Amino acid sequence: MPDSGSLPIDHIQTVPETMRAWVLGGPDEMTLVEKPVPTPGKAEVLIRIDAVAICATDLEIIHYGTPAIVDGGPPFHKNFTIGHEYMGTVAALGPGVDEYKVGERVTVEVHAGCGRCKRCRQGMYTSCHNYGLREKGHRANGMTTDGGFAEYAVNHINTLVRVPDTMTDEEATLVVTAGTSMYGLTELGGLVAGESVVVSGPGPIGLLAVSVARSLGAGPVILTGTREDRLAIGRKLGATHTINVREQETVEAVTAIVGAKGADYVIECAGTEAAINDAIRMTNRGGKVCLAGFPHDLAKVDLPHVVKNNIYLYGIRGEGKSATHRAMSFMAEGRFDASLIHTHTFALEDLQEALRYARERVEDALKVVVKPRGVASLKAKAAE
Ligand SMILES: [Zn+2]
Ligand SMILES: [Zn+2]
Repeated sequence: MPDSGSLPIDHIQTVPETMRAWVLGGPDEMTLVEKPVPTPGKAEVLIRIDAVAICATDLEIIHYGTPAIVDGGPPFHKNFTIGHEYMGTVAALGPGVDEYKVGERVTVEVHAGCGRCKRCRQGMYTSCHNYGLREKGHRANGMTTDGGFAEYAVNHINTLVRVPDTMTDEEATLVVTAGTSMYGLTELGGLVAGESVVVSGPGPIGLLAVSVARSLGAGPVILTGTREDRLAIGRKLGATHTINVREQETVEAVTAIVGAKGADYVIECAGTEAAINDAIRMTNRGGKVCLAGFPHDLAKVDLPHVVKNNIYLYGIRGEGKSATHRAMSFMAEGRFDASLIHTHTFALEDLQEALRYARERVEDALKVVVKPRGVASLKAKAAE
């Protein structure tokens, strides 16, 4: 039986009736409330949340609402709990569930999908055609159904990934991020051994894309970005070269490494018009570009160059096709140290401060994690 780390197994068999959970009011309005602990249905388990990471998408949802959709509309004033990058301990099983045991440590994928649409049937559950429609059975915790900034959450067993005893809670929250990077590489065809890969934008997805590409045998793996501290983390995570785009002309610097014809694969995580055009121009004929950044505005893109050079563009969303399991396999084997991108941990009640760290990159925050127990609150620390 895996050890839960922080609490003995018998403790979690006692599930309380209510729990602390953050809910979204209007835009930029988060409140800590008491909510009933949800009950797992068929094919579901109740998870006692042990750690949850903050994602840029959470900051988007809190401010804009999208990409969260609850019951067909914006997620505001619906007693809705966000947070999707969490891990924890199985605390109760729904009827008929024997795939997991109470006490097992698990991390989660975000999207269960609906299981009935064309895309879900293809394993593309992050592109579910019934996104946000609970009556169609769609679930994506923290996006369309209640998520992880709480003490408990209910998950479909298809979204669970077992966590090895050797992995910390904090690192386990990063599996879904690595899974997103893995999904991008899967959609590009996955055959990257010996191929050149450029990753632009050293946020969490870009940094872990470097690690995953390297683990899949790609080389060289080049990371581009503006912040030297993040490029340095990229080198530790497997980048063979890094390029500071403030100091060098990006496309020239890339071709100086991979040759004048350009790179085989580019994973674009910056999401800006300039970065997208650079990505296209540094890709060789017949090469592939994965668009993993979330652009806000319409972009003027050099499509003539794309068409003339037979370049393939792939838009990806989330972590489909069980990519999270493949990412976990690499992480469990210690192929790369994802914990390098975890920078801060706060108590659950200090979520507002944790969000500020993530939003304003206080103390170079990269991945900020909150934990419902085992971490002293800022109030308690101040009283010391
Ligand atoms: Zn996320
Ligand atoms: Zn679906």
